[in-house]
Amino acid sequence: MRELVVLGTASQVPTRTRNHNGYLLRWDGEGLLFDPGEGTQRQLTVAGTPASSITRICLTHVHGDHCFGLPGVLSRMVLDGVDHPVHLHYPASGEDVVRALVSLATPGLDLRLRPHGARGDVAHGLAVVPLRHRVETYGYRLTEPDGRTLVPDLLRAAGVEGPDVGVLQRQGSLRGVRLEDVSVHRPGQRVAVVMDTEVCEGAEELAERADLLLVECTFADDAADLAHEYRHLTAGQAGALGAAGQAASVVLTHFSSRYPDTGMLLDQARARAGARTVVAAQDLDRYGLGRRRAGVAASEEGGQAAS
Ligand SMILES: [Zn+2]
Repeated sequence: MRELVVLGTASQVPTRTRNHNGYLLRWDGEGLLFDPGEGTQRQLTVAGTPASSITRICLTHVHGDHCFGLPGVLSRMVLDGVDHPVHLHYPASGEDVVRALVSLATPGLDLRLRPHGARGDVAHGLAVVPLRHRVETYGYRLTEPDGRTLVPDLLRAAGVEGPDVGVLQRQGSLRGVRLEDVSVHRPGQRVAVVMDTEVCEGAEELAERADLLLVECTFADDAADLAHEYRHLTAGQAGALGAAGQAASVVLTHFSSRYPDTGMLLDQARARAGARTVVAAQDLDRYGLGRRRAGVAASEEGGQAAS
């Protein structure tokens, strides 16, 4: 199963309807928790996603709205008897904050600290790219390797059927039939997480060909001065990022508490996003990643269609 569960969508100040940040990406057997702000433990419960499903926690930076939920989530995992390793990724300069937060948690979890100080792969298929914020910040991109999709008509024409199909897939060829003769190229899925940043090359790189781009959208376009001062994106800039990267779908989040209604932000992002599907996330939305490169679609009530 692949889906993004939105646990919280507020930036600096949570509101009556928005919890601080928190995003759980369920990706086959992995559960990647991005930026657990305050209240994330409870939001996991409300969303019906057990803390035990988390295998990695990825912090973009160590501002409170992106990490103050860490002790609660870690303690809950201990309480729930999690015995698998949990990897915690974060910018190296945030070491003191991370260690302080981790020290508050109930001991007993097999937690592996994975600080990063430069761009690159931090796990299989998981890369970090520097962003530009007031403290060291990195965005994340999860990339599935490209693959091939079998075409039934071509298989039939080549006389490959039954168990031979599996043999062909494993071996790459069978009785003169090559896998590429009976299949088409299938680009791997990409999910990008671009949190607190101003417009920068790193954000553009992360957005490139993303099936789902989760992107901060702190301010409206008329607050561009504030966005610049605090190094955040405006709605228009978030939409333009999706367009520049030709992302299939853009999910806006990390809204300032000054916007109880995000409709205006959504309009402004859409105006710059070209053909992208753009949605403004609400807490507890779920965005299912459909078949590869087919875009994303809401998988449960409360989510908005994004394909
Ligand atoms: Zn923030």
